[in-house]
Amino acid sequence: MTIHGSQQGCAELSDAGASSDGSVGRCTEPAEDLTMAPARLDNTHRDLRDDEFWRAIPAYADLTAAEFHDHRFQSRNCVTSIRKLREVLGPRVSDAFCKDAEAGTMHSTMSLRISPYILSLIDWDAPETDPLRTQFLPLASRLRPDHPELALDSLNEQGDSPVEGLTHRYHDRALFLALDTCPVYCRFCTRSYSVGLDTEDVEKVHFGASSDRWERIFDYIRAHEELEDIVVSGGDMYNLRAEQITYLGNTLLDIDHIRRFRFATKGPAVMPQKLLTDDDWLSALTGVVEEGRRRHKLVAVHTHFNHPNEITQVTHQALNRLVEAGVTVRNQSVLQRGVNDDVQVMRCLVRRLGYVSVQPYYVFVHDMVRGVEELRTSLQTAIHLEKQVRGATAGYHMPTFILDTMGGGGKRHVHGHEHYDRTTGVAVFDSPVVRPGQQFLYLDPIDELSPEVQQRWADADARRQMIDDALASARGSDRSP
Ligand code: SF4
Repeated sequence: MTIHGSQQGCAELSDAGASSDGSVGRCTEPAEDLTMAPARLDNTHRDLRDDEFWRAIPAYADLTAAEFHDHRFQSRNCVTSIRKLREVLGPRVSDAFCKDAEAGTMHSTMSLRISPYILSLIDWDAPETDPLRTQFLPLASRLRPDHPELALDSLNEQGDSPVEGLTHRYHDRALFLALDTCPVYCRFCTRSYSVGLDTEDVEKVHFGASSDRWERIFDYIRAHEELEDIVVSGGDMYNLRAEQITYLGNTLLDIDHIRRFRFATKGPAVMPQKLLTDDDWLSALTGVVEEGRRRHKLVAVHTHFNHPNEITQVTHQALNRLVEAGVTVRNQSVLQRGVNDDVQVMRCLVRRLGYVSVQPYYVFVHDMVRGVEELRTSLQTAIHLEKQVRGATAGYHMPTFILDTMGGGGKRHVHGHEHYDRTTGVAVFDSPVVRPGQQFLYLDPIDELSPEVQQRWADADARRQMIDDALASARGSDRSP
């Protein structure tokens, strides 16, 4: 089905099927049904966009489907500056918007890189509120001051790094940062301390795809027999060459105690064309998965869709190539204000992922990342959404809503806090396996708190007091035996 306009089927419509102004596709909350009948969900998650959407962009207007849906065109024509954005969009974008974006990029920890695919899916009639624009292109007018307790490497990945580019925090699994580049750059990247080019504000710790560095990581993994599971990330493995994927994958499969690993990539969400037209690369990936199966080991792909609009008919075709090769694909979303913090949007995303054979695995509460405070939600938003989404699809397709605690306590379920003061926005978590006996925090965005509490966060002593009170309350509520 072809959907025109910016809200491609992410709505469960009111009974009339259209909002009061007659526009189809606006997300509307159905009236509460107090009977015992189950909630009615529509099937708009199946309405994948299938039109020639790129032709609305002046620079792409004359491209055929074959030209546009070629991975070489996509990677060679990413927009990496506001000057290029103006060239590509021409009259579709205003001078005021470009100035706002230019000022926004000056404060970003990530350099600009947007694929033609993503750029074409943005509604350029209303870019200020578009969920895809929000993720990739900062606007200075929307930025909020960073939380005062925030740090650049907020999860302290480097603190748990015994070897450059390997984080070993959990007993049986480790994170292997194979490279430091990606097909696009997300402005909210948790790994902004390392990924992408240096920016005005951040000189990065670079992890190039060098064989020497990889060998040191393999040596560490071989020497640590407690490791069974490796996340190969970066950066993004979409940018590895086919022979690098084969080498890396087969080396991990050769280590007896490694029983499973996952390749993490945002690629299918931002450049699905690679799965359709880069046959060597796809064969390298599916070859490793197949070799793993032959050795009774599990190799999966973990991807990163955040909004239903990112999933089109082209995405479906691309993912079908992985399905045909028997590759398990799971998704990890990041919860973001103005992107997917709406019940109907999140339900649609979860069901649409299932429809295209991707298992919704995690929804992460947004990490405390520099320069994107306006994207973070409160913990309460995640708790609410989790309750509203559960039941919309089968339990094995229900993502777990989690957060990664500040400072390296690891992942905790959003309902698993020891104490959560919704007034001050301070949540406290224990981490009995990763860091027994220690407490870890998550702090809600300050601009969502009351004016009186916002004042207290501006004062260093009051700030310390709010945190100390929360930690003490959490100790008092200790439910452990
Ligand atoms: S693709 Fe992943 S690693 Fe790369 S910038 Fe986005 S979130 Fe960060």
